[in-house]
Amino acid sequence: MSTEAASYFSRELLSWYLANKRELPWRISRDPYRVWVSEIMLQQTRVDTVIPYYERFMEKFPTAAALATAPEPEVLKCWEGLGYYSRARNLQAGAREVLARHGGVLPDDRDAVAALRGVGPYTTGAIMSIAFNRPEPAVDGNVMRVLSRYFCLEDDIAKPSTRIGIEKLAASLIPEGAAGDFNQALMELGALVCTPKSPGCLTCPVMMHCEGRMAGKEHTLPIKTKAKPPRRETRIAALISGSGEHAGKLLARRRPDSGLLAQMWELPHVLAPESDAPAPAAKRRGRKAASASGAAAQEVAAAIEWPQASADAASGADASGAGHATAAGVEPPDRHAAMADFLSRSLSAEDGLLVRPVSWWGETDHVFSHIVWDMQVFRAEFGFWHRAGVQAADRSGQAAEASPSYGEVAAPANYAWIGPEEMKTLAFPNVFVRILQDYWRDRD
Ligand code: SF4
Repeated sequence: MSTEAASYFSRELLSWYLANKRELPWRISRDPYRVWVSEIMLQQTRVDTVIPYYERFMEKFPTAAALATAPEPEVLKCWEGLGYYSRARNLQAGAREVLARHGGVLPDDRDAVAALRGVGPYTTGAIMSIAFNRPEPAVDGNVMRVLSRYFCLEDDIAKPSTRIGIEKLAASLIPEGAAGDFNQALMELGALVCTPKSPGCLTCPVMMHCEGRMAGKEHTLPIKTKAKPPRRETRIAALISGSGEHAGKLLARRRPDSGLLAQMWELPHVLAPESDAPAPAAKRRGRKAASASGAAAQEVAAAIEWPQASADAASGADASGAGHATAAGVEPPDRHAAMADFLSRSLSAEDGLLVRPVSWWGETDHVFSHIVWDMQVFRAEFGFWHRAGVQAADRSGQAAEASPSYGEVAAPANYAWIGPEEMKTLAFPNVFVRILQDYWRDRD
């Protein structure tokens, strides 16, 4: 790396940024809290997507103290749709630390900022440089790509040692007194010009000395070993419609207090037994509906045997059994029928919830960093609650033991009947928001 190329890079990039930077809502002030929130939201999420969320979030929680003292469900609701909900929880935990230890104001102290929940090396550098103009590097995937190309670095950026080397390089490039602008300039170049698939070298402000471009490697750099593809698992969910006082509503369930998507609301669903099998690689965006796939009104054989003593408690349609196969009259088994059967057995065994799946409704994907949920959704009719666990089912869906008694009990506290009104206050992961919005729209 020549000194000339390095100083050219810093100088040209900074002046390009000052002349061309986008007007973004988090750039209207250098308030460290505003910078912090924006950097957390921008992780794994596009700028265009973040903008409306950021504006709503700042309106609702304008200070670290406001965020720290807000009920968690409100914070999650405000984050609903952005995904990666641990970011919202960590942000609030960090705000509580700021309130408790620093009087509600992020300190101009690198170590104190780095110690906050959910704040890693990149976010520390971004906050320290943008809010306090400290010469700290802020190196994420975008910055590693730009610097790998410009300096023609062929080390694997998936390796921690490469990241450390690039952080040192980025720190050495920061012009005196312009850390915040320079780091944002690097991010901006990566987002707008030196993009992953189609680097715009002809309009790039630093193309004259770009070693990667001169070597013809702008499309092959950076080198990055592929991460293991996310595991795919099939989840079977139920759109359980109510009757009587719950007519027009659906049954929803709150997730446990810890773990993935903790405390968020969801449709009742179960992990399908075939989840370990290879799954189709194709990714579906949005719902593929039964009608769209030529399988409209696909009835399923919900092979549950309704306990006679309690069958009358189910809705009139349920009690009649009209139009639905039972264990005695099951239709030829197909994948949907098997899934519907497994769904009803598992909800009964795990949650004490007796439902009758009536048709396959559609399918969609939800992609986490390490896992993909292949979500198969069924319409189902509510039956009744009984004591959970009295009827055990193994993973193949076979009932291991008949229930000795189906005495009805009250609904568990983590279940609720919801309609569009309740959805305004309860936070659901994206996949369920999509499903429910489609469901209400179809119904209207
Ligand atoms: S010249 Fe091309 S490869 Fe080099 S930094 Fe600019 S856009 Fe990236």
